[in-house]
Amino acid sequence: MIPVAEARRFVLSACGALTPVLVALGDASCHVLAETVRATEAVPPFANSAMDGYAVRAADTVAATARLRVVGSVMAGDDSKTVVSAGEAVRIMTGAPLPPGADAVCMVEHTRTEEGGSIVIVEETVSPGTNVRNAGGDIAPGDEVFGPGTYLGPAHMGVLSSLGVERLLVHPRPRVGVLSTGDELATTAGALAPGKIRDANRPALLAQLGADGFGAIDLGTAGDDEAALAALLQEAAAGCDAIVASGGVSVGDRDVMKAVLEKLGGARARSMQIAIRPAKPFAFGVLGASATPVFGLPGNPVSALVSYELFVRPALRSMAGCTVLDRPRLAAVVEGDLPRQRDGKLHLLRVTARTGADGVLRVRLSGGQQSHMLRTMAQSNALALLPDGDGVSSGGRVEVLLLDADTVSASTEEPW
Ligand code: AMP
Ligand code: MG
Repeated sequence: MIPVAEARRFVLSACGALTPVLVALGDASCHVLAETVRATEAVPPFANSAMDGYAVRAADTVAATARLRVVGSVMAGDDSKTVVSAGEAVRIMTGAPLPPGADAVCMVEHTRTEEGGSIVIVEETVSPGTNVRNAGGDIAPGDEVFGPGTYLGPAHMGVLSSLGVERLLVHPRPRVGVLSTGDELATTAGALAPGKIRDANRPALLAQLGADGFGAIDLGTAGDDEAALAALLQEAAAGCDAIVASGGVSVGDRDVMKAVLEKLGGARARSMQIAIRPAKPFAFGVLGASATPVFGLPGNPVSALVSYELFVRPALRSMAGCTVLDRPRLAAVVEGDLPRQRDGKLHLLRVTARTGADGVLRVRLSGGQQSHMLRTMAQSNALALLPDGDGVSSGGRVEVLLLDADTVSASTEEPW
């Protein structure tokens, strides 16, 4: 058995960031930037008002109640040409350009008008710059806005749009083929023939890839036939950035995936027994001139998904250019015992993690832990990482890999 870290090193060394491509801004969301973006424009592009009110000369407001003549109004989107001279004000709306001559804005809440709005009484003293958003006050031309490795989330997209960026270099997100292998897999709907089971792994992995933002390509199912599997993988490798297959990597008589990967991948392939439970067997290799990574996951459905979390997801994120590869690892308090026996392996237990009113994260077993019990995986939002030893008793601490942060809050009460 080899440690998780060694298997990860082997996998990650073959899964570098995909070659950057130039894309339109609208296609860049959820990608990782592969260049430095410098501002060529100012944000805001011109000095404008942060409030609805009156644009004034700050010096005119020194008196406790200044009486100013309203000489015009300017709305957001207007081109303000009316000059504000001494003793004058211009009615102004949020986002409207500051008129020439004005250097501050009084909030409408601190003013009142007379003579049908032609006179404004300002009841506050403002300084130059008050309630003014300066040109370039957020971002100045020449500023380095985002660097390589930046994940482009919603706010990044807004910033880049504000700057008028039209195209940029990003790492593509890998398109991943998903294949289930095994002679026992039923290939038609309807009643199961004797000895056959339905395919759980392919739908689960396709869904997981989609949830993680990767392109998922359904490669169907294949039987335990070396030649057919080899042909299928070679063809698929040409059209995918990576392939995730399940089944046939253990030590059984029909575990052909392992053999095929070793044959096709040569020195760049390896079958492993990893010191974890579940998901001990794992195979990995790269195929063809494009060195397409192929992940051979164990067939047991829970093992397949756990193996995905430990090896596939980080590798695909690396290919996408992400710098953070893993899900959050958090400390939690155990509710109910987490028993185990010494076997030299790290155990990954399906648990339900919840934060209480005290903010402490607590975990309890979700149900049966055998590797064919996929329903327990569906009922879990975290994996407790139980190091080799005698387990953890109720009240003790354990580290967890958080799979779904959205379900961690225990309270259904309106939090605000
Ligand atoms: P294997 O890794 O091929 O030895 O398979 C281990 C166990 O997982 C066996 O009980 C298989 O029948 C089961 N299995 C393999 N592939 C799938 C799949 N796609 N869906 C559900 N169970 C599977
Ligand atoms: Mg099999």
